[in-house]
Amino acid sequence: MILPISRRRFFGQSFGITTGAVLARSLGLTPADLAGRSPGRSGSTPMIITSHRNATGQAALEEVWEALAAGGSALDAVEIATNVIELDPEDMSVGYGGLPNEDGVVQLDASIMDGRTYNAGAVAGIESIKHPSSVARLVMERTDHVMLVAEGAKEFALSFGFPEEDLMTEKSRAAWLRWRENRSDNDDWGPPDHLKGWEDEKGRGIPDAGGDRAAFLGGPEESTHGTVNVLAVDARGDLAGITSTSGMSWKVPGRIGDSPIIGAGLYVDNEVGAAGATGRGEDVIKACSSFYIVTRMREGRSPQEACEDALRFIDERYAAVGIDYRPGEKFVAINRDGEFGCAWNIGEGSPVMSVMDAAGYRRYEGANTTL
Ligand code: ASP
Repeated sequence: MILPISRRRFFGQSFGITTGAVLARSLGLTPADLAGRSPGRSGSTPMIITSHRNATGQAALEEVWEALAAGGSALDAVEIATNVIELDPEDMSVGYGGLPNEDGVVQLDASIMDGRTYNAGAVAGIESIKHPSSVARLVMERTDHVMLVAEGAKEFALSFGFPEEDLMTEKSRAAWLRWRENRSDNDDWGPPDHLKGWEDEKGRGIPDAGGDRAAFLGGPEESTHGTVNVLAVDARGDLAGITSTSGMSWKVPGRIGDSPIIGAGLYVDNEVGAAGATGRGEDVIKACSSFYIVTRMREGRSPQEACEDALRFIDERYAAVGIDYRPGEKFVAINRDGEFGCAWNIGEGSPVMSVMDAAGYRRYEGANTTL
């Protein structure tokens, strides 16, 4: 496969340089030690963040940190970090292992934006390719277009040597099979009518479509979704970002979310900062949320304030037409000075994002605008 950047070139830039992470290790500090020392919402540059809070998100940032600290580009850093997350088979919302549409087909969306050149690329509804973010980068750098969709996007990826692969894992297939059998009593999926609820003399019924393997879902109708945003500013002050997702699980085939839409799921402006979105994409598209966040930062708001403003903007649109409805979104943002922020309007708790700069890796808890 021809990847658009040379990993060796990117990582080669880090040799011989002492970075914050290296310094932390030489002092015997682990990332967990550093977590309690967060400088809050003000970091330093270079810096890379992700909306993911899990171990893979941490591994992704650690994978690229030394090269970024040594002068590597933000654009290379966000791509390589996103590739790590896209390959995680346990992540059911991004890349390989992402949950499929209602037909059992995984359709991925991704976008990339390069602040240095005011350039952008995206793919939407692409099938059978593990790294939609790298395909988006090729759209950005090797064509005069911004977005390719569906079959055209896949053919484009194949022409660059990306392999065609099955993106379903055993876990994601079991989840989909179980969903298909349980979504309605009014179709012919599932055990035959005369065996529904039947048990033999030992109390054993007909096995679930997904069997024990599907137990993790917790409920057959549960629809899950998620996305990853990775944003960075490099030592030259250039910004870049990526948003990558498998979108809403069980979506109508062909449905495209906000993630590949420049200005909705992602926006980067070298003079100001960068923003990315996760959550119900339909609302992020209507509100042009990432562009809105960057515009608020241009007007002087901090990344934290701008993320909160964007959530309020959406809530106010529904209130303005008399509809009592609050969709769930999470926004992350950075500015060119190394400040960061995140906010959501979901549930009881607070949103968490991952940050890596000279102070090391840490998780940052943002604001819940509903509280
Ligand atoms: N924003 C994604 C989409 O609508 C899903 C998510 O982030 O949860 O496709």
